[in-house]
Amino acid sequence: MSIRDTTIIAALAARKAAAIWPEGVVARAITRHGTPIDVTVSGRGGNRMHHAACDGCGRSKDTPASHTGDILPVLLAWVDDHATTCAFLPRPTRTEGAR
Ligand SMILES: [Zn+2]
Repeated sequence: MSIRDTTIIAALAARKAAAIWPEGVVARAITRHGTPIDVTVSGRGGNRMHHAACDGCGRSKDTPASHTGDILPVLLAWVDDHATTCAFLPRPTRTEGAR
């Protein structure tokens, strides 16, 4: 794969990441390759949890929400760190050359 191919793939991934967020996503980061890392919320009240998942490699992290419902700094730090280190792209939905 050439640098040009890598650049094109990153541009396409960034365009996908900038599209309308999936339902339930409350925050989104983009890896250096344009892959989204989405943060979703589950539960209610004191049982509310935030779940961050990378669309490229599938790694994820869960934390309880803060007492105000905000995303905890430890989860934001994980997302930020992962966005700069993850090298995976999401699996294509169709093969190259397919129409
Ligand atoms: Zn990843």
